[in-house]
Amino acid sequence: MSEKNYDPQMHTAEHILNQTMVRLFGCSRSKNCHIERKKSKCDYLISNEPSMEQIGEIERTVNEIISMNLAVTEEHIPQGEASAFLDLSKLPANTPDTIRVVRIGNYDACACIGPHVENTNQVGVFNIISHSYNDGVLRLRFKLNRPNQQ
Ligand SMILES: [Zn+2]
Repeated sequence: MSEKNYDPQMHTAEHILNQTMVRLFGCSRSKNCHIERKKSKCDYLISNEPSMEQIGEIERTVNEIISMNLAVTEEHIPQGEASAFLDLSKLPANTPDTIRVVRIGNYDACACIGPHVENTNQVGVFNIISHSYNDGVLRLRFKLNRPNQQ
């Protein structure tokens, strides 16, 4: 994971989006994400093309979670302990024994080294700009309307 330069708001939104996709479609978290401050994109492996209604549901669900004002917390725990509730198969081989687990309320938990906001109320409004579906890959492009435009 080389996500040191990630925008904290976008990056937190990515966690919420990943968990939302897992819950709505039973797919894996995105293995191909491009996160930038202005707009980002994430790919998901899904067997059927989602309807416009489903795309709307993704956006609605992410915004529901954001509006719950969930605390974003981190803790450092041994991999052995974390593997009980996290899929650690994608961690690089040189990952130290103690890993950083980032939680978004009780909604999501994920091993991550990137920067995050402290509360989902700092993320802004999640907006899917466009999507495409090719060969089993759903690509979502999204932006954030931020609470305080800096
Ligand atoms: Zn993260």
